[in-house]
Amino acid sequence: MLVRCVICGEVFDDSELICPVCGAGPESFVPVDSSSSESQGTD
Ligand SMILES: [Zn+2]
Repeated sequence: MLVRCVICGEVFDDSELICPVCGAGPESFVPVDSSSSESQGTD
C-alpha cells in the first residue's frame, strides 16, 4: 500500500517508518488511492 507524505508530497510504501524525503513520521502519512478519481495530477 502506498502513502503520501502531507509535508512534502512524496509517495512511498507504507512500510517506511519515516518519510525518505523530509523525515516526517507516520502521523504525516495519508493513504494514496491508485484509482484516479480526481484530476489533480500535475500543476
Ligand atoms: Zn515528506
